[in-house]
Amino acid sequence: MIQWQQEFKNSLRTPNDINAFFGTDLKDIEYNSFIPKSFAQKIKEAGPQSSLWKQFIPAQQENEQIDGMYDPIGDTTHAKAKQLIHRYKNRALFLPTTVCPIICRYCFRKNELTFKDDLFKADFQNTIQYLKDHPEIEEIIFSGGDPLILSDEKLREYLEAFANVGIKCIRFHSRVPIIIPSRLNENFIQLINEFSSKFQTITLVTHLNHSEEISTEVEAVITKLKKETNLLLLSQSVLLKDVNDNSDTLADLFWAIHKIGIRPYYLHHPDLVKGGMHFHLDLETGRKIFLQLRDKIPGWLIPHYILDIPGGHGKTPAFNPESLEFSGTLIDRYNKIHRYKNMQ
Ligand SMILES: *Cc1c(COP(=O)(O)O)cnc(C)c1O
Ligand code: SF4
Repeated sequence: MIQWQQEFKNSLRTPNDINAFFGTDLKDIEYNSFIPKSFAQKIKEAGPQSSLWKQFIPAQQENEQIDGMYDPIGDTTHAKAKQLIHRYKNRALFLPTTVCPIICRYCFRKNELTFKDDLFKADFQNTIQYLKDHPEIEEIIFSGGDPLILSDEKLREYLEAFANVGIKCIRFHSRVPIIIPSRLNENFIQLINEFSSKFQTITLVTHLNHSEEISTEVEAVITKLKKETNLLLLSQSVLLKDVNDNSDTLADLFWAIHKIGIRPYYLHHPDLVKGGMHFHLDLETGRKIFLQLRDKIPGWLIPHYILDIPGGHGKTPAFNPESLEFSGTLIDRYNKIHRYKNMQ
């Protein structure tokens, strides 16, 4: 077995495993647990106050939450062919797996993934037929689950098939670069390079929420990818209560992301997900934090702060607009209000 697959297999999978490794006292947790031991070691070293611990160690508060939704971003409203969500005209999400390299306790798909909803049932012929019938789809976004948990052989099969139906761009949304960086090995680089002439761009959007997640291995692997492939390297982060909910922590994070050669793309307002509501914060708090970023980091380092409207209505800027009508005032980065007059 390849090294990264061994790392993946050697994991803590139950509250008991976690209690034994971390000395915690977790009882039954309604949601699945999964932490590779190699990463568990990093969590342990970082300690109970760290962003790693808070994001990945289950909490008793997950159980029996009354607030929050099963499917907060409305995946099922736009589920088309099995494993495909087509919400925006020219691009679609492809969900090839329910498996992740770790289970993030705030996960927006935690219910669907735990109960392995129909959304994830494979019917690749159906997927390909849908793409043939919808030539307006130009980009396939591998999401999940985590697509980079698939073998290179499986990824190659998918990429071949998407190239054959004329897909122009490929994107992977993944937490693997942070959790199992060894997965992005020579063979993976070869695979990407093999397909780089078949697509206009191949993008890797790495999911990370705190600068503590960037280990020296992560840095080394990303640096190598940057040097040896022409992947477009972006990041996405979720604003999380008690993890990164202040502008200094976020400024730190975005600098750290830049330092390893990635460009911050999205900052997600946390979704209203059942089982993850203890990470939630209100929009006013999020906006105040985001506002302060403009004084702390340059504009080109500020990601889009977005919110997925519950019910499948898609992404919208979390700061602002609430309507196309203009109120007549603008606020500056210190929350001071200024009049502004439209000129015809
Ligand atoms: C977020 C998302 C995308 C990607 O949107 P971009 O604005 O291109 O990043 C595509 N499809 C669905 C269903 C999504 O939720
Ligand atoms: S990697 Fe993504 S899909 Fe998987 S548990 Fe974390 S947030 Fe959820």
